[in-house]
Amino acid sequence: MCMYSMGASKRTKKSVEKQNRKFRDRQAFAKREITYMSDRLPVKWDEWANGFFDKIMFYEKTDNKKYKGFCECGACVALSQARSGRKIECISCKETVVLKDWKRKTTIEQRDYFAFLDPKADAWVQRLFVGYKASYFDGTNTTYKLYMVEEERCYLYPDGDNYLFHVAFGGEMGKWYAGSGRIHAKGYCSWQVSDQALHTYPYNLERIFQNTIFQYSAFEIAAKVSFVDPVRYLLRERKEPKLEMLYKLGLYKLAEQVYNPSWYEDEILDELRDTDALKKIGIDRMEEVEECRYLSFDQLVARKEIKRWKINPSDRMDAIEFIRCLNEKKRCGF
Ligand SMILES: [Zn+2]
Repeated sequence: MCMYSMGASKRTKKSVEKQNRKFRDRQAFAKREITYMSDRLPVKWDEWANGFFDKIMFYEKTDNKKYKGFCECGACVALSQARSGRKIECISCKETVVLKDWKRKTTIEQRDYFAFLDPKADAWVQRLFVGYKASYFDGTNTTYKLYMVEEERCYLYPDGDNYLFHVAFGGEMGKWYAGSGRIHAKGYCSWQVSDQALHTYPYNLERIFQNTIFQYSAFEIAAKVSFVDPVRYLLRERKEPKLEMLYKLGLYKLAEQVYNPSWYEDEILDELRDTDALKKIGIDRMEEVEECRYLSFDQLVARKEIKRWKINPSDRMDAIEFIRCLNEKKRCGF
């Protein structure tokens, strides 16, 4: 072995050790931060989270074609008809409520998934929750309770380094372990929040990204439209900067494909890396974006092909679908 290669391998080994040490130090720091941070959620959290759940009105039949409804808002209203599962507007709070026959069930439980980005000095902690809303009827009143079960915390450094921690199921409260929890859908006792569509708490986002590398990120739009995982999205956007443009333009379907490409969608990324990308996918003017908002990559390819066809606007979608199917058979690009 020549002296150069020996030197090189020695240097590599040293740099690997340095890398490992940096990883361990940063992970240890992140773990301390997420363990001793405040568990408290913003004051507005419950009100905001409750907006994603159905509001429940329990009802009972009192006479022929006479029903009594007990709304979450506290009102007791008279109804001329009622059926379990039907949505009506409560005349008291004016909210859309779902009717439930209390004689069949006096507790209704709903589940949804939530994310919260908590800023640290110059980093962020992402917290993921499974949120439950339980609505009860006690014979005279409808009440509800919201509760959040936290499953994951991720410490994100500004340079993109990130460290994930999970709680042990049924384990000691406040104890965190490195890595993600078990995959969901493996029985009731497993982790549920990863891979789910997430509602991200929106009211602090503008502030927490100010003067950071994410200040121009389209994350707010992506969170609202596509329910993305915050850290995953932010990292993805750094790797594929086109993602920001696609969300800001409003090409949501295409953006979703870039955020989460399946194995055969990699070609999308190649096509979109070009600066002339929009023209390439057949969008020549900004006015065309509206029509393309929810079109996938394959549909855009097809749309480009039929652009000059003289057909009824109402037939366009059928034509796009027809060409898309043909293209699918030959898997052609632009
Ligand atoms: Zn009401």
